Amino acid sequence: MTIRVAVVGGGPAGSSTAEVLAKAGIETYLFERKLDNAKPCGGAIPLCMVSEFDLPPEIIDRRVRKMKMISPSNIEVNIGQTLKDDEYIGMCRREVLDGFMRDRAAKLGANLINGTVYQLDIPSNDRDPYVLHYADHSNGTAQGEMKTLKVDLVVGADGANSRIAKAIDAGDYNYAIAFQERIRLPEDKMAYYEDLAEMYVGNDVSPDFYAWVFPKYDHVAVGTGTMKVNKAIIKDLQAGIRKRAAKRLEGGEIIKVEAHPIPEHPRPRRVVGRVALVGDAAGTVTKSSGEGIYFAAKSGRMCAEMIVEASNNGQKVPSEADLKTYIKRWDKKYGATYLVLDILQRVFYRSDATREAFVEMCADIDVQKITFDSYLYKTVVPSNPLVQMKITAKTIGSLLRGNALAP
Ligand SMILES: Cc1cc2nc3c(=O)[nH]c(=O)nc-3n(C[C@H](O)[C@H](O)[C@H](O)COP(=O)(O)OP(=O)(O)OC[C@H]3O[C@@H](n4cnc5c(N)ncnc54)[C@H](O)[C@@H]3O)c2cc1C
Repeated sequence: MTIRVAVVGGGPAGSSTAEVLAKAGIETYLFERKLDNAKPCGGAIPLCMVSEFDLPPEIIDRRVRKMKMISPSNIEVNIGQTLKDDEYIGMCRREVLDGFMRDRAAKLGANLINGTVYQLDIPSNDRDPYVLHYADHSNGTAQGEMKTLKVDLVVGADGANSRIAKAIDAGDYNYAIAFQERIRLPEDKMAYYEDLAEMYVGNDVSPDFYAWVFPKYDHVAVGTGTMKVNKAIIKDLQAGIRKRAAKRLEGGEIIKVEAHPIPEHPRPRRVVGRVALVGDAAGTVTKSSGEGIYFAAKSGRMCAEMIVEASNNGQKVPSEADLKTYIKRWDKKYGATYLVLDILQRVFYRSDATREAFVEMCADIDVQKITFDSYLYKTVVPSNPLVQMKITAKTIGSLLRGNALAP
């Protein structure tokens, strides 16, 4: 007999949680409401995710080696010159990535349930089980058959609109709305985006984020994000990016339109009782880049490792304090990364003048190297003090030249 753990949500966060638990022999139930779910997403993953999560090459549709930053006045800066031959940003389809990670967790022993969790009953003491109420869709119907499951521990990996977070009163977070159109381009136009992704900044495309054209399997994803959650504004911003990239998107056909919230910061409570939140449910996306896939998978893995450790491979039920150790470890490992990206967003996405300065700064090879290394490998690679001084001077110089620091 081992402890029973329910993992709600079979995206990158949930599957990596379930994988670690199942490997340790813990009785694991992984709930996913839609087994062919294609999460609205750009699908860009850092190189370290491929090795750390042992992803086979066929998961990666495209290897992006060039990135173009485009300023409000349409100055283009090519970044990527510092990449080594075997370095790239991976572009994947979420239905493929999520399906692979979920199936792997199931093969390793997690009980995969095609079910929608509607309710979580919380026990009044620290011994009784949690009760999940869910619709089991294995009969092939959308409404499914209502069932219950009793477990000792729950991991909420059910994304930005998490029901588990609501059930434990984890508190709200601010969020941005990301809007994206999938556009199929004529062959010659698609060739341009073969291994290239574009990031556009400017008030016309987003007041507080960036807009993008990312190459996907056989089309491009064109989108924007903003914290100004208002339908009319988002439509205008999307028109803005369509206009800026108009020449490159000529002859394109929209094949899908999608929108989804992106959390802006962690929830006030990420562990309550014997329930822990991971991934978007917890709010692990980074500011300014809006990156969340790697952090979702990593938070799931770290949470599960904590459960395995505290339960002595499933022999005893971990306490709230045990689960909170996962949060402490997480904040210690990534606190600085979140802070730096938050500051970057505040300083550089403030106005079109600061954005011009930002793009100008991206032309610097040292800046490119540090930015790419920290994105690809998720470690802030210490550079020598001279390079660091040079970057600081460049940053201030760029901001002053763009009159960006004027009140
Ligand atoms: C438009 C857009 C573009 C983005 N681009 C990128 C990018 O290029 N790179 C990047 O790294 N990040 C990107 N992100 C962020 C990234 O998509 C998320 O951070 C990531 O998906 C979080 O993973 P997750 O497993 O926590 O949650 P999700 O991927 O949201 O997975 C949650 C899963 O839970 C299931 N679920 C939900 N509720 C229930 C329930 N009640 N019962 C059962 N199952 C349930 C859902 O079906 C889903 O499969 C983007 C986000 C958006 C909106």
